[in-house]
Amino acid sequence: MRKLMLPAAALAFLPLGAFSQNAPAGWNDAFPPHRIMDNMYYVGTKELASFLFVTPAGNILMNSDYESSVPVIKASVEKLGFKFSDIKILIAGHAHPDHVGGDNLVKDLTGAQVVVGRVDAAKTRDFHPAGKEHPIDRLIDEGETVTLGGTTLTAHLMPGHTRGCLAWTTDLKEDGKTYHAFIECSLNGQFLQSLDNYPGIMDDFRATYKKARTFQVDLWVSSHASFYGMAEKYAKLQKRGPGDPNPFVDPEGYKAHVDQYEKSFEAALAQREAQAAGKGK
Ligand SMILES: [Zn+2]
Repeated sequence: MRKLMLPAAALAFLPLGAFSQNAPAGWNDAFPPHRIMDNMYYVGTKELASFLFVTPAGNILMNSDYESSVPVIKASVEKLGFKFSDIKILIAGHAHPDHVGGDNLVKDLTGAQVVVGRVDAAKTRDFHPAGKEHPIDRLIDEGETVTLGGTTLTAHLMPGHTRGCLAWTTDLKEDGKTYHAFIECSLNGQFLQSLDNYPGIMDDFRATYKKARTFQVDLWVSSHASFYGMAEKYAKLQKRGPGDPNPFVDPEGYKAHVDQYEKSFEAALAQREAQAAGKGK
């Protein structure tokens, strides 16, 4: 049974309004950038996941993380031999500052088109450096696609963690086989003391856990490295020999992950309801 790593647990006790623009200790540490599969690379920090899709028409970056993460991401992109300025599209993460706080800086450094989920857009606009506006160039809805140089990513609304949380799917190829890749938004519903921030959030979470099981997932990643065991999978990748499976191909791990996060959401909800009942006496 995989345990939740500390960063996710730490998040559980942070009310949403208290999210700061500063990364928690260690989150912005550099992590070796690596190819996940095909043209998809990890360029995020030790905890905050960012992905680069390299195409002949320029590159797509997903998740800018904090503003203070952007230099770490840039160094990772360059370490892989790519140019940061070749990023043509930035797909914004969900509307929390640890995923979209760097959107302004990425836009300033690359001029990339910034794609934001329509449902998360209003909240995303709250996160920007002082005196600036959050850059939004394109709003995207459920089922719509982002395409560049032969790579197509399809958006899937998975509300709960934020109201407009978007997961993405794409197909990747390795050794002549096609793999369905799933880039999760976040299923983290443990911080329930702050979950009344929109009506219907509980129903959204439950529907999202259901929907999470409808995807055909071969390879999966998520917005936090700890959510998908990135460090462990990277260690396996380092030891991978010819004929060994790609460690990011992990359909069973994905199913277990959905079960685990649904359970922790229901447990947090039960605890909160018990507390509320206690107060009412
Ligand atoms: Zn979040």
